[in-house]
Amino acid sequence: MTSMIKLPIAKWSVEDARNLYGTERWGNGYFNINNSGELVVENPSNSVNAEVSLMDIVRGMKERDLAMPALLRIENILDQSISQLNEAFQEVITAEGYRSEYCGVYPVKVNQQAQIVEEVAQFGAQFNHGFEVGSKAEMIAVLSTMDENCGLVVCNGYKDQEFIDLGLQATRLGFDCFFVIETLTELPILIERSRLLNIKPNIGVRVKMTSQVSGYWNSTSGDRSVFGLSSRQLIDVVDRLKAAEMLDCLKLLHCHLGSQIPNIRDIRGGVLEACRYFVDLCKEGAAMAYIDLGGGLAVDYTGAQSNAGQSRNYSLREYCEDIVDTIKTTMDDHQLPHPVIITESGRATVAYSSILLFNILDVAQFEPVPPKVSSENDHELIDNMREVLTYLTPARVQECYNDIHYYRDEIRELFKRGQVDLRMRSEGENLFFEALHRIRDVTRSMVHVPVELEGLDEALADIYYGNFSLFQSLPDAWAIDQLFPVMPIHRLDETPDRRAVLADITCDCDGKIDQFINTSGIGGNGVAEKTLPLHSLRADEEYYLGVFLVGAYQETLGDLHNLFGDTHVVSVRINDDSSFDFVKEIQGDTIADVLSYVEFEPAQLRLKFRNKVEAAVQKGRISARERQQMIKTFQASLQGYTYYEKEPSVESSLATLTE
Ligand SMILES: *Cc1c(COP(=O)(O)O)cnc(C)c1O
Repeated sequence: MTSMIKLPIAKWSVEDARNLYGTERWGNGYFNINNSGELVVENPSNSVNAEVSLMDIVRGMKERDLAMPALLRIENILDQSISQLNEAFQEVITAEGYRSEYCGVYPVKVNQQAQIVEEVAQFGAQFNHGFEVGSKAEMIAVLSTMDENCGLVVCNGYKDQEFIDLGLQATRLGFDCFFVIETLTELPILIERSRLLNIKPNIGVRVKMTSQVSGYWNSTSGDRSVFGLSSRQLIDVVDRLKAAEMLDCLKLLHCHLGSQIPNIRDIRGGVLEACRYFVDLCKEGAAMAYIDLGGGLAVDYTGAQSNAGQSRNYSLREYCEDIVDTIKTTMDDHQLPHPVIITESGRATVAYSSILLFNILDVAQFEPVPPKVSSENDHELIDNMREVLTYLTPARVQECYNDIHYYRDEIRELFKRGQVDLRMRSEGENLFFEALHRIRDVTRSMVHVPVELEGLDEALADIYYGNFSLFQSLPDAWAIDQLFPVMPIHRLDETPDRRAVLADITCDCDGKIDQFINTSGIGGNGVAEKTLPLHSLRADEEYYLGVFLVGAYQETLGDLHNLFGDTHVVSVRINDDSSFDFVKEIQGDTIADVLSYVEFEPAQLRLKFRNKVEAAVQKGRISARERQQMIKTFQASLQGYTYYEKEPSVESSLATLTE
């Protein structure tokens, strides 16, 4: 039973919680647990050890009437990710005597939220950190947000005339704009428009890589990749540029191996292939000076440090070293000047800074109540079930498991035919759970557990109902089974005495999290845990969980399943003295908002409802006073949050009405 977590019997300490939930393994130094058992965020850019408890932030949100669920952004972490990346490349460049520079660009598609793009532009300016855009919309967002002399603007994607005009005009404004040719159709447009507008463009070419990449997100590379030029097309571009006397505009080679590349060897292989293209384009007479390696820098979601899909087997430093070293060696071999190195890290830049916070609404448990003493009215099948419990030993555990299923199924059959009543059936189900629990307890002490019984922990796990929508807030957990670290953000000084899976509040059976990062034998085998250790709920106390590393790709891929809308977004900045400020805040969608997204007109809805209740008054079904109450409830709901509200605005509006 390798997948089982051994819950320690000795007194529980926060150190045990650190091991169990793996904060140090996946947290990149940003997260820890304090002595009061609360999860803390460290101010990463600071040596004084400033830290803030997530529970203090939750309390601050409560005071501001910001209900759960909420997306929390820690601005210091975003800043730190940008400086880490730039400083790591800078250090390696200095150490290896590389004779050019690193220029990072942030790919907007990874998180296009204005507050993120603005922060990257503002904080990244000191490193000349630029942007990668893949559409006109992203281009417009970037041109109006960043300073023209702060970093590159790399234009990927299919470019029509308007896209190209935007870029050419930006070039005239002073932006360092690069047009990366992805298909042959955009080249004639670029040549013609730049002539017409009399602007010399910076041109790049995106090559189709044949290096195959392992990992979870791996279809971007290879011969059948939808992106990039084949070598034949590449030669075509060179010839056409030569004919147009524009070969001196071709300066940049672009490749993108894929996102979340777990294995460093794949990265090295890809860089080597890119270098080959680069060298030969130089030979062709192009003015090559930039090599852009795209994204792919992975995030260790599981903390396993392995080459399995959702992890990575290298450090940031190694990533930089392999890139700088491979390029330097190749260029030196061919006596070519060292090009500017560009990477387009998105995931690693924004993943860590966002946390989804939610409260637990309810729990379903699969626990038996103490079985009744036998009575003579009991059906004989019930007696048989009781009997099973008497011969339960490690040697006969599989037999007991088979028997208890057989009797339970028999009772269900007889119930269908009317030969067993509801009370008897209920007693049977209870004895069934009693038996399963005892069987599980027996298997815990066994070295070799029968295969069929290995899933018992899962089968008996609690279901904790969380106040969030998987489809809105964690779309990749649903669509591609991505794992994110999930854990309680308080009570970590107490033993987590339950095992659970999480269900969201959509009425979709796919709206659940039942795979968790491997907390025990981190072997990098990619096997996920089926249950998450949690604490029993307490009456009158909220229980809060956090889902971590959700800053990349989750925010705008989400959808309106069951019309649950955007959550509130709160941005916090941690100060050196461990205080913190709420620096930005965006109210989540109201019910009126989400209804209007699907083309309902809130004003019309109000009018129609008003007419309905007025008609009811006319028919004498309700009083005019009751009509007013109904309208108030309706109005308050329209303006309310789409998620479960503990103190619904309806109640408060009724209260004010009766005053
Ligand atoms: C998606 C994408 C990226 C970002 O990749 P990450 O792995 O998230 O860093 C970079 N460049 C291009 C061209 C992309 O399509």
